Amino acid sequence: MKSLKALGSKLATAREQIDILEHGIDHEHPVSTFPFAENLRNIGLLPLKPTELEIFQINMGKMCNQVCQHCHVDAGPDRKEIMTRDTMQQCLEALKNNPSFKTVDLTGGAPEMNPDFRWFVGEIRKLEKKIIVRCNLTIILANKKYHDLPEFFKSHEIEVVSSLPFYAKDRTDKQRGTGVFEDSIKALKKLNETGYGMEGSGLILNLVYNPSGAFMPAAQNSLEKEYKEVLKRDFNIVFNSLFTITNIPISRYLDYLIKSGNFEKYMDKLISAFNPVAAQNVMCRNTLSIGWDGYIYDCDFNQMLDMKVACDSQHVSEFNSDALKNRSILVNQHCYGCTAGAGSSCGGAVA
Ligand code: SF4
Ligand code: SF4
Repeated sequence: MKSLKALGSKLATAREQIDILEHGIDHEHPVSTFPFAENLRNIGLLPLKPTELEIFQINMGKMCNQVCQHCHVDAGPDRKEIMTRDTMQQCLEALKNNPSFKTVDLTGGAPEMNPDFRWFVGEIRKLEKKIIVRCNLTIILANKKYHDLPEFFKSHEIEVVSSLPFYAKDRTDKQRGTGVFEDSIKALKKLNETGYGMEGSGLILNLVYNPSGAFMPAAQNSLEKEYKEVLKRDFNIVFNSLFTITNIPISRYLDYLIKSGNFEKYMDKLISAFNPVAAQNVMCRNTLSIGWDGYIYDCDFNQMLDMKVACDSQHVSEFNSDALKNRSILVNQHCYGCTAGAGSSCGGAVA
């Protein structure tokens, strides 16, 4: 399987995705066009403002060893865009100058594939920030040079967050590729052996569930209980928490929705499940997202839609926390994915 970009798909462009989200496919089916911003206005949240700058999320590149069906980054082995060391230096500078950032969240693609990943992690550690790595699990087995990643994570006190779309092979492989479930289980065992997810170790291993079809996730608490029971019983695997994430209708997930004839139905579901409490707590209010080329976005989803922050500080080389704190967050129809039902963020449900 190839990325949308490598396939030359129109959906690889941000403009095309936004057009479909705003006006429907071929400008038909107006069901999905009730503006998200209007919902925010109705509950007194427009313009949407940041509460604090606490989480610095860095997308280290689009390169990945997997090509998951629902990937919002359109990542894969055919994507070569990765962050340079110069841009990482600029990120470190911004972090040094802004102590309100307590957490650095490293994502991708597979962030570990960036040749400067380990150097960068070492430098962030010196700043005494909490580090999260979004590890896709299979990277640990993909090549000998990654086999010691669990030890590396441990020695840098990294919190590991990993996607496992389901606790059974069929649904995981359908979404992430043949053989991914088996390799993910092997990688989870290695992480457990290193102490990750084990009681009293202080090494945090969180898993992420996202639906394999055009539906919203079940309740986070009950699904976590189910995952814990089955993974312990069938594979003797333990972990800390499960985050349920709603699929945001962009990039390859948008492609899937359109091809399966589910786009309008899915948007309707998200719109009718709009939850004002979840809207209060959307992650863009305390997070900034830095792209592989150093541009700054309100979140990873706005990054993929090329919606740079609406203020003068658009690149990490000219990071201005006052301008960023006072900006208005850019919203559009994809934001319904963050506010439906119990809400959704990189840390799971928010309401
Ligand atoms: S592992 Fe993550 S970044 Fe890589 S293709 Fe899958 S969803 Fe995208
Ligand atoms: S998609 Fe991004 S900007 Fe929109 S509500 Fe979610 S986090 Fe905020």
